[in-house]
Amino acid sequence: MNILKTFIGLFLPKICLGCDKQLLKNENFLCSNCTNSITFLENICPICGAPETEHGCKVCGNHKFFFDKARSVFIFSTTIQKMIHEFKYNEMTRIAKIFGKLSQEYFEKYQPFDYIDYIIPVPLHRVRKRSRGFNQAELLAREISKRMNWEYLPNLIKRKRFTETQTKLNREQRKENVSFAFKINPEYSIKGKNILLVDDVFTTGSTTNSIAAVLKGEQVNKVYVLTIARAL
Ligand SMILES: [Zn+2]
Ligand SMILES: [Zn+2]
Repeated sequence: MNILKTFIGLFLPKICLGCDKQLLKNENFLCSNCTNSITFLENICPICGAPETEHGCKVCGNHKFFFDKARSVFIFSTTIQKMIHEFKYNEMTRIAKIFGKLSQEYFEKYQPFDYIDYIIPVPLHRVRKRSRGFNQAELLAREISKRMNWEYLPNLIKRKRFTETQTKLNREQRKENVSFAFKINPEYSIKGKNILLVDDVFTTGSTTNSIAAVLKGEQVNKVYVLTIARAL
């Protein structure tokens, strides 16, 4: 089946992952227009990674973050949004590799984090993972771990069962119990370690923040967050 797919792939025109235009011979995964539309996210808050405004960081003023630093490689632009959609629903492996490479370039250019002991993905709920068959954050974290030589621990954080978490809490209680949905696999010793948590998109940061809170509760030294895109 894979051989057949590769064989057919040889004759199909290559398509831009940003705008579906046919690619020229010298173009790789994005056309030149789309390539020009994506740039690394700069001028950001040193803590949460939000674009900085004249008046400092609005996001940090309104949130208590448990992670030490969060960084996103890109803004959630139309091109990146389209690539992330393709990543989730169509070409997982190929786009994980592309995002892995772009993340490596980002790390090498900005060196945003200190030493990393472990790299971990934001876990997907088991039920959702079963229906989709994979967790995109896992693919990303694994790809980055290979490139950066950081130890990958996919099973460090687990989501609690739905019934363990949601049923007894009302909406307000759920909001307050930031760390209630996650638990740490006791097989690993993480005290004093630096951990990088990976996800595809940073929206409100509430999921990564919940996990960071759990990790800090176990006396982890630094918790860092990397996402491919930052929604504003
Ligand atoms: Zn394009
Ligand atoms: Zn901030």
